[in-house]
Amino acid sequence: MRRPLVSAGDAHPSYSEISSVRVAPRSQTAPPTFSSVPEPSPVSTAPVSSRGKKLPLIPLEPELSDHAERAARLAAIAKDVSVCRKCVLCETRTQTVFARGTGRTRVMFVGEAPGADEDRQGSPFVGRAGQLLDQILDAAGFDRDSVYVANILKCRPPGNRDPRPEETAACTAYLEAQIELVNPKVICALGRHAAQFLTGKPDAPMGQLRGRIFYYRERIMVLPTYHPAALLRNPDWKRVVWDDMQLLRREYLRSDEASGR
Ligand code: URA
Ligand code: SF4
Repeated sequence: MRRPLVSAGDAHPSYSEISSVRVAPRSQTAPPTFSSVPEPSPVSTAPVSSRGKKLPLIPLEPELSDHAERAARLAAIAKDVSVCRKCVLCETRTQTVFARGTGRTRVMFVGEAPGADEDRQGSPFVGRAGQLLDQILDAAGFDRDSVYVANILKCRPPGNRDPRPEETAACTAYLEAQIELVNPKVICALGRHAAQFLTGKPDAPMGQLRGRIFYYRERIMVLPTYHPAALLRNPDWKRVVWDDMQLLRREYLRSDEASGR
């Protein structure tokens, strides 16, 4: 029988913030070419240009020894999600949006909820914000196909309204199970909803969360940063997001050193 790693009835996870919170230093250099995403659409899908700095690609990880079992459990959860009716968003979705990415770079990005493009295509971060996220990943040296990308909610809120507390409460057991099974070294929380949930600070404003390191279930590092959709509205924030990506990259590579790999 399949043992549920996390069930919907689980208590809220315990979280802790490390005692000495580090704030990302400001970068010495201009952010790379994801700052050149044209405003407004259409978004360029061209690769990061040679004008911008692009950090070396981070090598993929070997598969976990129990990879096949983890993949099978993730597939089973995706199937449950595809017929989920635990909140009203099931009434208006076209389809559920579970995740993208192989997880072979052990960084997980968590956004808020599917938008119209994601609801149509069934995959997270495929619209304008997703194209910007891909450019950010490329620039920071994260292979876009192997980072695992998911959302707090698996169904689109109508009109892209904010998630309601009861929807987040109903849906996040799925995300918790995804985190357990993907077992990332670092989670990047994109925007306020993901940041508040993953840091366990439901009332903290983004200004107090971004660029700092927290721990999910006292174990997995969480680094909140601004949501790519917010960057499309506030291009000035791209510089701090670039600082955050450099911190994410450093911490990810450091976790390898610490484990002697
Ligand atoms: N915004 C999100 O938070 N998630 C998506 O998948 C797309 C846009
Ligand atoms: Fe189920 Fe989550 Fe969709 Fe609500 S948003 S119906 S809880 S999958």
